[in-house]
Amino acid sequence: MLGPVLLAAARSDSIRRLVSAAPVTRPVVDRFVAGEQLDQSLRTVRSLTGRGMEVTLDHLGEDITDRSEALRNRDAYLALAEALAGEGQGARAEMSVKLSAFGQALPGGDDLAYENVLPVVEAAAEAGTTVTLDMEDHTTVDSTLAILAELRKRFPQTGAVVQSYLFRTEEDCHALAGEGSRVRLVKGAYKEPASVAYQDKREVDLAYVRCLKILMAGEGYPMVGSHDPRMVAIAQELARAAGRKQDEYEFQMLYGIRDAEQERLVAEGHRMRVYVPYGTDWYGYFMRRLAERPANLGFFLRSLVTRG
Ligand SMILES: Cc1cc2nc3c(=O)[nH]c(=O)nc-3n(C[C@H](O)[C@H](O)[C@H](O)COP(=O)(O)OP(=O)(O)OC[C@H]3O[C@@H](n4cnc5c(N)ncnc54)[C@H](O)[C@@H]3O)c2cc1C
Repeated sequence: MLGPVLLAAARSDSIRRLVSAAPVTRPVVDRFVAGEQLDQSLRTVRSLTGRGMEVTLDHLGEDITDRSEALRNRDAYLALAEALAGEGQGARAEMSVKLSAFGQALPGGDDLAYENVLPVVEAAAEAGTTVTLDMEDHTTVDSTLAILAELRKRFPQTGAVVQSYLFRTEEDCHALAGEGSRVRLVKGAYKEPASVAYQDKREVDLAYVRCLKILMAGEGYPMVGSHDPRMVAIAQELARAAGRKQDEYEFQMLYGIRDAEQERLVAEGHRMRVYVPYGTDWYGYFMRRLAERPANLGFFLRSLVTRG
């Protein structure tokens, strides 16, 4: 019940101001966000890769309202690519971007987002790494997949994300299951209407398994983005059935969520990539994490009461 309320709050400026200013918010945010500055995120990268994980870094930002912010976000990613190259982390650390941070929702948004993200994809390639385009709400899917197709002409390793809660996603999986295609499958984190998305959790899970089957049976590189133990187990089964070796797919989880499970998968020899967000614009990301799991919200509320 609370999930949709929190997802609506994730897009409210007044609630953003209230939550961001609460003194108790910071320690809770720190559980999910690696820090506000690049050097803090690099420390996290070193720590995770030192323990056998791979990472994908997200410079937080989304839903921008003017072009100068798009340029600032582009520049932040260029600095990140340079830092990863400097640290020699290109082989283990990639970058995740949200096209809404590159101007996708502004007038002329498709071209603007493409123009801004292209230098980041080029810089990633020079640093020996790659970029995955996060997927945002359903109104952006066509645009994001079109930009992905354009980028993949020169940079076929550019990754896509698909969300099992959308009715369209099985079709998208078929289209994206070709050779060389890197696809992260997630359940989906936005508040979507019943006209385009399953509302029932069980239906979302069943759709996730159907999509996993398509991706595992295909010729691409599936990236299993879920903390759900059932999805992790099913992915392992399907990979075995499809004759995939452990380096022919990977698991992905969010920073701060199910750390022990992340370690366990690495110990079993799996590729485990941790999604590491950093930056000052953490509000939308943080609220989606609260919406996903009542225990996260309880932790936040308890800390409000304890400190209050
Ligand atoms: C790497 C990564 C990238 C993502 N990128 C995107 C994106 O681009 N676009 C998008 O819309 N969404 C994205 N998401 C978010 C995703 O859509 C889901 O909202 C989120 O992952 C929650 O779904 P779930 O599959 O993890 O399992 P859920 O359905 O939330 O949980 C299922 C089960 O997993 C276990 N579990 C979940 N969380 C915890 C926890 N904190 N502690 C212990 N057990 C837990 C519990 O057993 C729970 O019952 C991403 C997620 C990941 C992991």
